[in-house]
Amino acid sequence: MRLILLGAPGSGKGTQSQKLVERYAVPQISTGDLLREAREKGSPLGLQAKVAMDAGKLADDSIVLAIIRERLAQPDTANGFILDGFPRNLAQADALGAMLKEIGQPIDAVILMQVDPDVLFRRLTGRRTCKECGRIFNIYTSPPGTLPHCDRCRDRPVLVQRPDDNEDVIENRLKVYTAQTKPLIEYYEKLKLLRRIDAEGSVDEVFARVERVLAATLAHAAKT
Ligand code: AMP
Repeated sequence: MRLILLGAPGSGKGTQSQKLVERYAVPQISTGDLLREAREKGSPLGLQAKVAMDAGKLADDSIVLAIIRERLAQPDTANGFILDGFPRNLAQADALGAMLKEIGQPIDAVILMQVDPDVLFRRLTGRRTCKECGRIFNIYTSPPGTLPHCDRCRDRPVLVQRPDDNEDVIENRLKVYTAQTKPLIEYYEKLKLLRRIDAEGSVDEVFARVERVLAATLAHAAKT
């Protein structure tokens, strides 16, 4: 299964990707995570992306595309993948389309996670990530203790807040989403790949909606 999760920052793409990884055993490919990793390692691409990331702007397409190309070449993507936070503008979507055509792996569906802007803001300011295992918590809606046991952090998550989850940068990220990423809705609608879901409610409620959409998509693909 090859999926794109599309939605504003805070719409739950990362959280739902983690659930999809468990359910379908395909990797999550988050360009945000890959860029943060590259930055932490001090790689030239990561350091170049840092300025844009700290300001809540998009990193250069050339950097992101180089990272994605390398990631999609890994053998664990052979049975599919979940793209989280990529593509984020029309140029990236075109480049992805060309890349997947080259390797004969077309996208099955693009799931648009729809969330009210006020809810997004609260999700982003409340978001915390465990430094050890990468699980995403929210101090308002899913605080530590509400998620199952994890071997890596032994249920003692080391919670950190992303530096770009502060109010000024959040505002910028939401503006960038509206200006540059939202046009992808129409782009994928024209390609008949877009599936909209209401992404408000609990993690499990949203996941149930994601699964319903996927079941319908896979059933339709099996018929054609
Ligand atoms: P995320 O973790 O998806 O919220 O991404 C965090 C930051 O990484 C974004 O605000 C951008 O600065 C950068 N980033 C992530 N994905 C992309 C992308 N596809 N294109 C450009 N910049 C990206």
